[in-house]
Amino acid sequence: MTLDSRYDILFDPVRIGPKTAKNRFYQVPHCNGGGYRDPSAVAEMRRTKAEGGWGVIFTEQTEIHPSSEITPFIEQHLWEDKDIPALARMAEAMKSHGALAGIQLAYSGINGPNLYSRDVPLAVTGGPILTFTSDPVQARTLDREDIRDLRRWFRNAFRRAQTAGFDLICLYGAHGFGIFQHFLSRATNQRTDDYGGSLENRARFLREVIEDAREETRGELAITYRMSLHEDGPYGFSNAEVRDFVEMHGDLPDLWDLAHGTWEACSGTSRFKDEGAQEDLVRGIKALTSRPVVGVGRFTSADAMVRQIRSGILDFIGAARPSIADPFLPKKIEEGRIADIRECIGCNICVSGDMTGAISRCTQNTAFMEEWRKGWHPERPRPKGPSTSVLVVGAGPAGLEAALQSARRGYQVTLAEATTTLGGRVARERLLPGLSAWGRVADYRTGQIAPMTNLDVYRDSRLTADDVLAMGAEHVAIATGASWRRDTVARLHLHPIPTDPAMPVFTPDDLMAGAGPSAGRVTIYDDDHFYMGSVLAELLISRGCTVDLVCPATKIAEWTTNTLEQGIIMRRMLDIGVNVIVNKAPETIGAGEVTLACTWTGRTETLPADAVVMVTSRTPHDTLYQDLRARQGEWEAAGIRSVKLIGDAAAPGPIAWATYAGRRFAEELDQPDDRGDTPAFRREVAALDPLPSRLPA
Ligand code: ADP
Ligand code: SF4
Repeated sequence: MTLDSRYDILFDPVRIGPKTAKNRFYQVPHCNGGGYRDPSAVAEMRRTKAEGGWGVIFTEQTEIHPSSEITPFIEQHLWEDKDIPALARMAEAMKSHGALAGIQLAYSGINGPNLYSRDVPLAVTGGPILTFTSDPVQARTLDREDIRDLRRWFRNAFRRAQTAGFDLICLYGAHGFGIFQHFLSRATNQRTDDYGGSLENRARFLREVIEDAREETRGELAITYRMSLHEDGPYGFSNAEVRDFVEMHGDLPDLWDLAHGTWEACSGTSRFKDEGAQEDLVRGIKALTSRPVVGVGRFTSADAMVRQIRSGILDFIGAARPSIADPFLPKKIEEGRIADIRECIGCNICVSGDMTGAISRCTQNTAFMEEWRKGWHPERPRPKGPSTSVLVVGAGPAGLEAALQSARRGYQVTLAEATTTLGGRVARERLLPGLSAWGRVADYRTGQIAPMTNLDVYRDSRLTADDVLAMGAEHVAIATGASWRRDTVARLHLHPIPTDPAMPVFTPDDLMAGAGPSAGRVTIYDDDHFYMGSVLAELLISRGCTVDLVCPATKIAEWTTNTLEQGIIMRRMLDIGVNVIVNKAPETIGAGEVTLACTWTGRTETLPADAVVMVTSRTPHDTLYQDLRARQGEWEAAGIRSVKLIGDAAAPGPIAWATYAGRRFAEELDQPDDRGDTPAFRREVAALDPLPSRLPA
């Protein structure tokens, strides 16, 4: 029973083949950038989800065989028995609070370049590898003997998954990443044998492998199928064909796990996709099968979840990002603590951790992937140390998180903010086109802070060094943020370029404050390469300007490849009539024109402009910190033991970097500081195998 009976339905147990999930909260497989390199970090991350009440918890993509791997992306391996212990650790963590543990098995086929294993990639139909990185590698077409091998490799993986302790096996056939989809789709299956042609034939491999899975696991494990809901293009596995397929094979897997087409389409950012955006593609599929159905949609609203179940669209609420932002989402709903839910903001910074081969972070859940590395927990604070008082200056993402986490630990916290509004940059950015969800960074924290009796907030309080010394808190965090530069200095230009003072030049801060052009032809120069340039282009178009978006890289917003947005941003720019100019950067700025130089040849051309907006780099606001450092001799008398510069005031970066810095400040209060002589996090170092008896001479 939940506190609010409206949500009871979300806590019904649901059968999945031979297993029963304790509720309808289903953490679908998601990457985390740690994978096989950081097994304990991943296991402890999953444990927090078990603790937080999820009924089903999955691993990320687990590669079953070295003939198909997706280096440089770091997922899991189940290639030999040696890989079992790491996954067994994860399964144990997942099951620690009564959740079912699932493993997603993948054979990447046409998606895996095998840069690490160096095996020749094998695909349903051979051809160039289809992935993010245009690797100069082709796959060979699987022959009948290969298909037999592949079935055997899957059997080996099923056996190992069962030994590792998993309850559910998910066969990956979504996002263009899994071979089952490559068989099903006429785009990637051009075979003429009995695995190609008709839908019945294209489904043969999946049918065979599911039979093999049941046999190999003696029917003890549930076998689920993760499938793309729609592929574009004339040969794509369209939503209509998906429905035919489910109708023909309704009872084939023990559960249908539905995901939108490409990963970009499935995990759209909040800028481009609302909660529940896949509903049209999912509705009606449940009626075609007696098996339960799970779907995703960045669900964070308990009411939206209940509606999905009550209206017969889904049986399980699938979640990757909402489970990352708040591993305790189910528990909070169960306990009626709706206001405590830390809602995902849909920024895809978590995805960028996987895309860059780093470890993932989350803008909202600062403990994500630090549960084992640093012992941080998404909900439970570390006990406080011997000192008492903390002053945080600046209430942006860094300051809000520093104050909240310090107060949770039990310190007496004062938070001083120069303006009337809490939130810093997110208070401004949330007003930009498509970025309203950014506001959740501030809303969650201000909501949590409000009832706290050991945290005092002072607005309209711009502190000076004298103020800080007079307040005499033992620990001080300076989180005073940064502002955008008004010149071209960033990556390409390390020094300013000649600029005629007659040309009006604006910054993103000006535009966010409502200033800047509202007509005429505007050049936006973007050497930031993240979201701001294209967002401001949208803003200026909506104000009635003509916009030239100039960028020195070969594509605009190139870092947003890592947040799965680059393609959709480019499309949006073209759709709204922005003139996109790549491979060029301003060389001089005149009164009514900008002289652009080609990044590669240096050849110049002029571009007429009534105004220029610089989206280049940011200047940290560290004056207060520097003033305090200069007066370090007065700290002791004032009662101050430490002063730290955090967030954008130290080094401007994405919002997630700022919330992380705030968390780190709070976690490290009263901890000995060895000034970096040892790593600030735990790490696993590969255990060495014995040397082989014969080494090359
Ligand atoms: P971050 O992303 O690092 O949190 P922001 O720029 O979002 O940085 O937030 C910094 C906040 O600090 C802003 O709300 C700003 O008004 C506030 N601030 C700047 N200087 C002072 C100061 N001297 N005293 C109090 N608040 C300040
Ligand atoms: Fe959501 Fe952003 Fe956190 Fe990912 S990083 S879970 S998108 S808030």
